[in-house]
This record gives sequence, structure tokens and C-alpha cells, in this order.
Amino acid sequence: MLSTLVYRSRASAQLTEEGIHQLLGAARLRNKSIGVTGVLLFDGVHFVQLLEGPERALDGLFDTIRQDRRHHHVVQLLRDYAPLRRFDGDEMLMVDLRGHGAEEASAAILNQLKEQVDPTLSDDRVLKILLLHAGPGGAALMAESDLASEWRCVAQPAPAGTGEHLLPGQPYQFALQPIVDALRREVTSFECLLRSSTGGSPEQLFDSLTPEQRYVADLESKAFAFQLASRLKIEDAKVSVNLFPMSLIGVPNAVDRLLGQISASGLRPSQVIVEVTEQEAISRLDAFGAAIKQLRKAGIGVAIDDFGAGFAGLSLLAEFQPDKLKIDRKILQNIHLDGSRQAIVRAIVQACTAMGITPVAEGVETLEEFCWLSAAGVRRFQGYLFARPALNAIPAISWPERIRELPGTS
Ligand code: C2E
Ligand code: MN
Ligand code: MN
Repeated sequence: MLSTLVYRSRASAQLTEEGIHQLLGAARLRNKSIGVTGVLLFDGVHFVQLLEGPERALDGLFDTIRQDRRHHHVVQLLRDYAPLRRFDGDEMLMVDLRGHGAEEASAAILNQLKEQVDPTLSDDRVLKILLLHAGPGGAALMAESDLASEWRCVAQPAPAGTGEHLLPGQPYQFALQPIVDALRREVTSFECLLRSSTGGSPEQLFDSLTPEQRYVADLESKAFAFQLASRLKIEDAKVSVNLFPMSLIGVPNAVDRLLGQISASGLRPSQVIVEVTEQEAISRLDAFGAAIKQLRKAGIGVAIDDFGAGFAGLSLLAEFQPDKLKIDRKILQNIHLDGSRQAIVRAIVQACTAMGITPVAEGVETLEEFCWLSAAGVRRFQGYLFARPALNAIPAISWPERIRELPGTS
């Protein structure tokens, strides 16, 4: 099946005219032998390349391309199937964007199109992406993050005498995971993740209960989370807890009970953030809205959890603008490699900024993801890169730092 792939990347070193020709010559030979054709755009710093060919051949070729040290920040912009090749079947064409105006560059691309491909009729994503990158805003689209290899993590050990442990006889236990402002090296809050009496997952705990018991247990368990946070001396950090929307709607006096638990633990409502997700919030919008209003009135913060992962979608965000929006790991995983995810996350961060909402990146596991998200303006992070959840304890934290300081900073 004819497959299509567009990626962009950044040249590792200044390429001479001769260097470009060598690169192109070798690529043409290699690609021809496996039936891959397409177009290469180069503006002196960035490459944008369209590859068209058999699916298997493209997979293998893209693996090789990604490992080529002559460029870095290789980001896939599109992967699709097509009925025919858009560009001439013989070789890899080259459009040199240097010294050309945007219109000339676009004309050069369109001129190379095969006759069967009608650029005005086809609403073709491949063409749109190529023309966009050849246009005046093309370079800005490729503004890139730091290289992860220029960063490392330094460990901050867990506070002494607070190892992970089960609290015997306690029906609900909590694992704490920090949410951090990575550049300031501050923990802004600890998320309390529910565990069963034996340390089992929230799923295991809730699965053994009927829906009614589930919501009551969810609410009751929070007393133990607040007590734990209070006992562990989390200083200026806040405490985040998860609640099903139905635990707030369906359990009588839920918010008052929550406030009672908070004051009994010695915390203040303004130190607490409630994280919500799920469809129930949308199917019972009025009741849920009333609960949110009550939380707000008491000074408790609200976060939308798992944004982008199915249930917690745009309508939840449009209905109540929370203090925080936690972007789900499903859209952030390997974000440094994927142009579509990058476009979506940039738009989410922009929307948050316009609404005064703090975006939080969830489930960040690698320095690559961290570097990209930082460049996109994300300041708050949660994930294994920084710390794993620790049972009834404050975990050790890894802080990313640049290996060499940038000139001019101290
Ligand atoms: P969540 O609120 O999105 O919590 C984050 C989950 O992602 C946690 O799983 C955490 O251990 C995991 N996680 C954190 N960093 C990473 C990472 O870098 N990579 C990956 N792959 N995973 C990471 P956990 O503790 O199993 O909790 C799962 C879900 O259970 C939570 O997702 C939350 O929706 C729910 N939950 C937890 N505690 C409660 C609670 O008290 N009440 C209710 N209703 N739900 C809860
Ligand atoms: Mn959560
Ligand atoms: Mn989440």
C-alpha cells in the first residue's frame, strides 16, 4: 500500500552546497532502491521531507533517518496513505528555500506536482503542510526545544526517616506524588493517590464495592489523605485529591464533609485542590456545577484531570474554568517526536494562558518530553521523571538541570 510520511528536522551543522548535494545523492540512490520518492525542502537550517512509497519500506527508512546524526529534532508531521504519488516517480526532488521568497518556493513545489494531482481541487493535507513550511511562517513552526542530551537529572533524596510503609489497620492508604515547578525546583502540590488497606490500586479498591459504597468510600477516604499530608509536613505545597464527580453529587453534604475533614486535619481549604474527570460530570451538569460552586466558595481549588483522554474534554473545560488543567499522558507521551500532538498541546497551553488556568503535564517520563513541554511554556510537571508515588511518604525527587549553563545566565 502506498504510504506517505512528512517529517521535519534541524541540521546538526552548517551544511555546505557540496554537503547538501552529497546528502541528496546518497538519499536518492538509497530511496530509489526501495521505491521511495518525494520532496526535500531545506532552508539552510531545517529540513522538511515528504516520503512516498511502500509502507514497510517507509518504516525502515524512517528508522534510519531518525538515527542519522546529520540532523536532530526529527518530528513526524504526517503519516497517511494515498492512492498515488504526488511527486514524480523517479527521484527525491529538492526545493532549496534559501534566497527565495515564499511565493517562489510555493510555486516551485506546485510545479513539481504530477499532472494527475490537482492542487486546487484536492484539499490535500500533505500539500498544505509542505506549502505552510515553505511559507513565511515556516521557520517559526520549527522553533525547537533544547536537546535532551544537554540536560541531566540531579537527585534530591527523600526526607530522612520517612520510608514507604503500610499503615496497619487503616482502611485507606495514600501514595504521594509531587507536582513540581521544575525550573524553580519547587513542589507546588502533592497528589494523594488512593490505595487499599493492603496497598492495592484504586481500581482494585473500587471494584470490590457497589456504586453507592464506592462514592461514600471515595469521600471518606479523603480524611486519611488530609491527615497524612498534615503529618508529613508538606510545608507550602498544596494537597491534591481525586474525587469522582458522583462522590460530590451523590453523597449527601459531600462538600461540607470534605470541609470537616480538612479542618480536622489542621489544613486550610485553600491548601486543597480537588481533581475531577469523567462523563458523569457532564450528564449531571447542574448538580456538578453546584458542587463546584460550593468548593470554590470554600476556597478549595479545582483541577480537571486527564484532559484529552476521553472523558475530560472540551465541554468540561468550557463549562467550568478550573484553576488547573492536567493534560493526560496519552497526548504527552513522546510529544517530541509528533507534530500533531505538538500542535494540539500548543493550542491547549494557549487556551489555558488566555483563561488564566495553569496547565500541568501529567505522566512525564523522559527529558525529551520535559524539554519540549518547557519550550511550549509548560511550567508544572508530574511524572516518573521527577518522582514516583511513595506510599505514605514523601518521595525522592529528580530535578532536571542543564549540563552547561547558557552563556549570560548565572
Ligand atoms: P490520576 O489522577 O491521573 O493519577 C495519576 C496516575 O498516573 C497514578 O496512577 C500515577 O501513579 C500514575 N503516574 C504518575 N506518573 C506517571 C508516569 O510518569 N507514567 C505513568 N505511566 N504513570 C504515571 P494510580 O495511582 O494507579 O491512579 C490511577 C487513577 O486512579 C488516578 O489517575 C485517578 O484517576 C484514580 N484515583 C486515584 N486516587 C483516587 C481517589 O482517591 N479517588 C478517585 N475517585 N480516584 C482516584
Ligand atoms: Mn489525578
Ligand atoms: Mn490524571
